[in-house]
Amino acid sequence: MTEAQVLQKSDAASRTIIGRNQPQPITTLRDWLDYLAARDRLAVIRSGTALRFELAAIAKCFDGVKATLFPRPSGHAISVISGLVSDRQWIAEAMGVESSEVLTRFQDAVLKPLPWKEVESAPVQEVVHYDVDMSRQLPLPTHNEYDNGAYITAGLLIARNPATGAQNVSIHRLQLSGPNRLGALLLPRHTHMFYAMAERNGQPLDVAIVIGVDPLTLLSSQAIAPLDFDELTIAGALHGAPLPVVKCITSDLRVPAEAEIVIEGRLLPRVRELEGPFGEFPQYYGERAERHVIEVTAVTQRKDALFHTIVGGGLEHLLLGGIPREATLLAHLRRSFPNVRDVHLARGGVCRYHLYVQIDKREEGEAKNIMMGAFAGHYDVKHVIVVDADVDIHNPAEVEWAVATRFQADRDLVIVPESQGSKLDPSTRNGVGAKMGLDATKPLGVDEMKFKRIRVPGEEKVDLDGVVSTMPSCNWRSAIGG
Ligand code: MN
Repeated sequence: MTEAQVLQKSDAASRTIIGRNQPQPITTLRDWLDYLAARDRLAVIRSGTALRFELAAIAKCFDGVKATLFPRPSGHAISVISGLVSDRQWIAEAMGVESSEVLTRFQDAVLKPLPWKEVESAPVQEVVHYDVDMSRQLPLPTHNEYDNGAYITAGLLIARNPATGAQNVSIHRLQLSGPNRLGALLLPRHTHMFYAMAERNGQPLDVAIVIGVDPLTLLSSQAIAPLDFDELTIAGALHGAPLPVVKCITSDLRVPAEAEIVIEGRLLPRVRELEGPFGEFPQYYGERAERHVIEVTAVTQRKDALFHTIVGGGLEHLLLGGIPREATLLAHLRRSFPNVRDVHLARGGVCRYHLYVQIDKREEGEAKNIMMGAFAGHYDVKHVIVVDADVDIHNPAEVEWAVATRFQADRDLVIVPESQGSKLDPSTRNGVGAKMGLDATKPLGVDEMKFKRIRVPGEEKVDLDGVVSTMPSCNWRSAIGG
C-alpha cells in the first residue's frame, strides 16, 4: 500500500498533531498502525519470518525506530505486530498532547476515569474456537535464547474481584504449557489477590487475556491504581469516549470489543506447574519455578486478527511500565512536595529502578525527604537522584553532570539497607536490597557565580544552515584569501 492509499484509508493517518487541527487521541489499534505507517514508522517485514528467535531479533533491531508487522510468520495465517509504542513521543502523539504533558494527561485520566459501555456484538468475537489448540490457532513466538519456549507477552489479563465484582487489568507473562494450558507469573498484586480469594473457596478464577489493543488501552493496563479500580476506565478517559466492551463467551468478564484476540479461561485452584525461565525487563531471565496455571476454555478473534508481542527488555516493554509509574510517582510526590517539577524513570535503570527528580529547591535537606517519599512511592524505586530545575532529567548526561559537580558522597548520600525492592533485580536477595539517594542539588545561599552554568550568549539561536559558507570546505584556503 502506498502512503497516499494509507492516507485515504484512515483519518487517523492524516491527523495533524501540532497545528491548526486539535489533535484527537488514537482509539483503535488499526488507526494507530495507519498513523505509524503514514509517518514511515511501521516496517512491514517480508512474509514468513520464523516465530522462533528470528521475529524477536528483527523486532529488536527496529526497537525505538519503527513498529514491526510480520505477515504469515512461520507460515501462520495470523500476522504478528511488535514495538507499537517504542518511543516516548509516540505515546504523546497517541494521546494527542505534547511530550511534556504525557504524565499530567495520564494522571488526569486516573482522576477522572470514564466507565465503559457494553456492546452486543464485537469484532473480537467474529471467530470463536471452542476446541482450543493455541499453537495451531495463534502465532506464538519464542524470543530469547533460554526462554522456556513460546510465550504470550502482550496479553491484558482481565479478572474480577470475587467479592465486589470489580474488574482488574494487568499484563503477565504467559507460557504455552499445552494446547489449552498457560503458565502464569502472578506478582503479589491485584490479580493474585483475587485468585487467592477464589482459591480459599476451592474455586477457579475466570480470566480473559486480551491481545491486540490500541496504545492507550495498553498504557492504561499498567497504571499503579488502587484495588478495585478498573484500568479500562482510564483507557476510556484517555480516549475521550467510553471503551466499548463485550461479554466473554464462557464467562461474565467484559473485554475490549475492538481487540484482535481474546483467550478465555480460568486460573485453576491448588494447581502449580513449572514456568520459566523467561527474558524479563531488567535484561535477565526470570527463574524457572512452580507457578499458577490457566486452563483455556475458548479463543475468540477477528477474522483477520493481528497478534501483538512485546519483546522483553525492549523500549516498548520499558516505556509501557515506566510512564504510568512516572505519572503515579509525580502525583504522589507533589502531594507532599509541590515544588517537585518533574520525574523520570531512566532507560538505563530499565524505566523502573532509577528515578530522577527535578525540583525547585526551597530548603536545605529537602531533597532527602523527597528521596524517602520516592522510595515509599513504589518498591521498584531503587536509586533516586534529585537535581535542580536547570538540569534536563530526560538527558542522562545532564544528570551525571549534576552528580559530578553538585554532589558530595559524605554529606549528600542516603543509604537505606535491607528494604523491599524488585524480585527481578538479580542483585537483591529475593527482592530485599538497599535503596540509595543522591542529593545533586546546589546548596542554597552560596555565591551565585560558584554554580553559575557557563553559557555563550546567542548559542541557542545559531542557525547552522545559515552561518555555513556555501563554499566547499576543501576550498578553505581560498576562504582565508590564500
Ligand atoms: Mn489493578
